[in-house]
Amino acid sequence: MQGNDAVCSRLCPGRGTLTPMNEATTTSDRWICDACGWIYDPAEGDPDGGIPAGTPFEEIPETWFCPVCGATKEDFSPYEG
Ligand SMILES: [Zn+2]
Repeated sequence: MQGNDAVCSRLCPGRGTLTPMNEATTTSDRWICDACGWIYDPAEGDPDGGIPAGTPFEEIPETWFCPVCGATKEDFSPYEG
């Protein structure tokens, strides 16, 4: 009923120190289209192409193609950025 906040402030020293959430996205596996340079970012997906955000490149259907130039998955290479 009382004193919980005091206990927590001692046991949870990290309280109030928010860890940036974008760390996960910077380590995501992006792929670049060899034909046009368009970059697939799994954090964004390709909603226009039916690929929901958060979809790893490996899980994209083989029928998918680059939204810019129409290249297939085989024309993409891992992007080191
Ligand atoms: Zn392309």
